[in-house]
Amino acid sequence: MVFAPASPILTNYHLPIIWALVLQGRFVHKLKLALITGVSFIILMGGISQRHIIECQLITPSGYLEIESNIFFSPSINSLKSDELLSNINLAKSRINNTFGNMTSSPKVIITVTENEAVSFGSNLYGVTHLSVLGQCIVLGPEGQNIDVIAHEYMHAEVHHRVGWLNYLLNVPTWFMEGLATLVDFRKPYLLENIDLTKNEVNSVKNQTFNHTEIKHYQAARILASDVNKSKLYENLEKLKQGQNINSVFAM
Ligand SMILES: [Zn+2]
Repeated sequence: MVFAPASPILTNYHLPIIWALVLQGRFVHKLKLALITGVSFIILMGGISQRHIIECQLITPSGYLEIESNIFFSPSINSLKSDELLSNINLAKSRINNTFGNMTSSPKVIITVTENEAVSFGSNLYGVTHLSVLGQCIVLGPEGQNIDVIAHEYMHAEVHHRVGWLNYLLNVPTWFMEGLATLVDFRKPYLLENIDLTKNEVNSVKNQTFNHTEIKHYQAARILASDVNKSKLYENLEKLKQGQNINSVFAM
């Protein structure tokens, strides 16, 4: 306990300290509120995939081998397959570099061998890219280890990295993200000559919840992405990062 002097004049010497304590108390309270809000926000956004995001991004899967920086292979992959996979990863990255310019993201990549392994990281047989405040983490399933799927997933990671997680969350619709990914994914259903949709069907994807099991949604996104100026994509993503609206930047 501190001695309290009787003289009011002397007491005044303590006022700045008292105010400082009061203000500090308010500041701590506000900080706590901000932290609670922030954490709730992140958990809410992560939703059901939160566990997978954390497992993918923060945990080194046990037994998995880091073949190259940030690239982890299932222990069940043999060396022949791993050489082929590394080659496919490099070719997929080159495809993005040649289409839009050099990539700057460096996502963590987990390559699985069985469907069960893929599912344990929140993926299907093909692949998924977990995008969150923690960064980008790609999981490749047993059917997704070809150049097309790898380029597709890397493209998601690159866009997220360039736009920033918050602007991505608030300003980038899923159909746009998938449309950009299909520009480097040359699987047959995504080639323009194989797409037969009405103008209405194409435009309606903008107003629907994107269905990842509906091929027509990907095809509509692919057609909409045809209007994107590839040589200016990164420049325009930077504008989104600066807070500009996607409709004005990409004239959609
Ligand atoms: Zn995708």
